[in-house]
Amino acid sequence: MPLTLITRGPKQGQCNICGDVGPLTEDHTPPKGCVRPTAMTLQHVSSRMSAGRAYAAKANDGVKYRTLCARCNTGLLGGRYDLALIDFVNQVAGLLASNLTLPSKMVIPAKPGRIVRAVWGHLAAVGVDRYPKGPDTEAFRDFFLDETLPVPSGVHVYYWVYPYRRQVLIRDAAITDMRGPAHATYWLMKFYPLAFAVWRSEGSFGQNFRDLAALSPPTPDAVMDVEVELGRLPPELWLEAPTDTQAIMYGRDSIVADRRPPRGVVLKV
Ligand SMILES: [Zn+2]
Repeated sequence: MPLTLITRGPKQGQCNICGDVGPLTEDHTPPKGCVRPTAMTLQHVSSRMSAGRAYAAKANDGVKYRTLCARCNTGLLGGRYDLALIDFVNQVAGLLASNLTLPSKMVIPAKPGRIVRAVWGHLAAVGVDRYPKGPDTEAFRDFFLDETLPVPSGVHVYYWVYPYRRQVLIRDAAITDMRGPAHATYWLMKFYPLAFAVWRSEGSFGQNFRDLAALSPPTPDAVMDVEVELGRLPPELWLEAPTDTQAIMYGRDSIVADRRPPRGVVLKV
């Protein structure tokens, strides 16, 4: 049965972040300041992997979900956290656009506490009526609403440079690696020029990535040195397509978005 991608949601309902019931507002994922809203085609990531170009849905104005209350969406994400994410993204994009020969590692001044909340908040907006998130539901809600709290215990927020055009939003993926007792669950967001994975694993799986959650800002809006690796990047499909020793399972709300092809272009299906 073909998967249906539902992104709009009802006008009234439960906020995916705080759980309050009331009017819902639309969230651009990723935020507008990071990517220019444009016509996109959306597909479930598994159909993209197996069936090539079988486009599943259209989005005329970027990827949007009507799943958040006004406080979480415009108050906290738009009013506070997105600014830190947009600034970080723009600094990395500036490095990639530079004509200078850059060292393989750069240090960027950024606000990790707010970037983590922005990334998590936009991923939480993905999927209609998805407030329950398992055992971390309340811990993440409290973390998002209260800037003085640390990242929930055992959670990592990995990030890496992603110099590609495809946008990826995945909730509820799980990965195993047959080379060892390695298992992790994660949410994934990719858009030029960065990728983020909100990650929980058993053991040390994934520990070689840079981790925003490992930076402990002394105050909520503290500016810290955030290292960005510019050499030896992971492959484009990292954590979407398994390697020879991995298996990946995706949840319902896992989409890949590409810019829509221009009018008149015939796609080979
Ligand atoms: Zn809310």
